[in-house]
Amino acid sequence: MANPDLVVVGGGISGLSLAYFAAQAGKQVLVLESSDRIGGCLDSRRHGDYWFELGAHTCYNSYTTLIEILEGVGLMDQLLPRGEARKRFALLRDGKLTTMGPMSVMLQFNWLQLLAALPAGLFAKKTGLSTAQYYGKLLGKDNFAKVLGPFLSAVPSQAADDFPAEGAGSLFKKRTRREDVIKTWTLQGGLGTVADAIAGLPNIATRTHCAVQHIAQTANGFEVLTADGQTLQAPQLGMAVPPSVAAQLLQPSLPALSEALAAIKLAAVDTLGVVVDKSALTLPEVAFVVPLNDTFFSAVTRDAVPDAAHRGLSFHFRPGQTAAQQQTRLGEVLGLGADKLLATFARHTELPSPQVGHAERIAALDSALSGLPLALCGNYFVGLAIEDCVQRSKAEWLRLNPPA
Ligand SMILES: Cc1cc2nc3c(=O)[nH]c(=O)nc-3n(C[C@H](O)[C@H](O)[C@H](O)COP(=O)(O)OP(=O)(O)OC[C@H]3O[C@@H](n4cnc5c(N)ncnc54)[C@H](O)[C@@H]3O)c2cc1C
Repeated sequence: MANPDLVVVGGGISGLSLAYFAAQAGKQVLVLESSDRIGGCLDSRRHGDYWFELGAHTCYNSYTTLIEILEGVGLMDQLLPRGEARKRFALLRDGKLTTMGPMSVMLQFNWLQLLAALPAGLFAKKTGLSTAQYYGKLLGKDNFAKVLGPFLSAVPSQAADDFPAEGAGSLFKKRTRREDVIKTWTLQGGLGTVADAIAGLPNIATRTHCAVQHIAQTANGFEVLTADGQTLQAPQLGMAVPPSVAAQLLQPSLPALSEALAAIKLAAVDTLGVVVDKSALTLPEVAFVVPLNDTFFSAVTRDAVPDAAHRGLSFHFRPGQTAAQQQTRLGEVLGLGADKLLATFARHTELPSPQVGHAERIAALDSALSGLPLALCGNYFVGLAIEDCVQRSKAEWLRLNPPA
């Protein structure tokens, strides 16, 4: 693409959804992605015809902006409902796996502590409190630490204790639902399908293996230098990379914005995904495994979309484990030797780790952005969910290009 209207740095769902809204408006968009594949955390892997997720796995009918994109790219007939196993999970405690549903979690609480905490806890305000502080008040500190905390940490694959209890960066959001769409779903072939569909649109060109190394603001927009020595220019730029990368790339031209980006804390997660023969596993079909005090935060399965022959599981490890240690722990939990693993896949992710005060940090970012022909997108604004990302991208596109 010779003269793109918009260059987007980062080919995850944030960058691709920004590209989608620009392409819908008739613009020519070039997406630059450093890795060998587009999709970022939408990371569906294959073993023959079987697919499973190393990254994001579940969408809801409240993901209305994502659904708008699916309608636009013609994927609504590819929605796959998540089945019965989505309601079951396995708790790993003292080396023992116990399968349960949401109600059985209640039975894990220390009821004396719960009854002691509840009367005052029910009147506690969330404002200014972390998730651990608020739910510790509501349920009792130990009930949070030993029961709710590990389940909440399984969602963002990192300790969620310091996340704000409400507002930007919190785990809980009220969204409107599309009642005409199934409640919880994935896509045929996995969530990576939507990334591929956006990248296939006529006005969008994508380049993988194309790391951006330097960005300069010019009189006519931005100039982008890639690691393989190409220089690209565009009147508008989209940045949809982790905040640490955006901070580094924007530092020379926009130091105030870079400083605001560097204030966003990150947490690393190392994922080991495996595909096994269905007959090799004794673990009942569950959506995920949640351990108490272990080297991994959760193991997410594809069991909610069952397959006749295979099962796939992604173990999300705390950083610092070697590949061999990860494989050993996975084998111990599943009771499987390495010879039973039909395929293994690894991924490293840096995720935002919002803290109390996140809303103020985001407000500082938005104020430093004001007036620039730069769309700053990602999972570090309102929240980590795919819908949060695509909402941000749409809002950024409309900020830069308000409808006439
Ligand atoms: C294990 C896991 C499970 C999840 N499960 C769910 C779920 O079930 N439902 C849900 O709604 N959300 C889920 N999420 C959250 C959601 O998937 C992510 O927050 C979202 O996909 C992030 O998209 P993004 O485009 O902002 O960032 P990313 O997906 O991280 O994309 C950023 C891209 O930028 C590229 N890049 C970095 N540096 C450069 C550079 N210098 N030049 C060019 N490119 C660069 C990266 O390679 C990457 O592809 C999950 C996340 C993880 C990690």
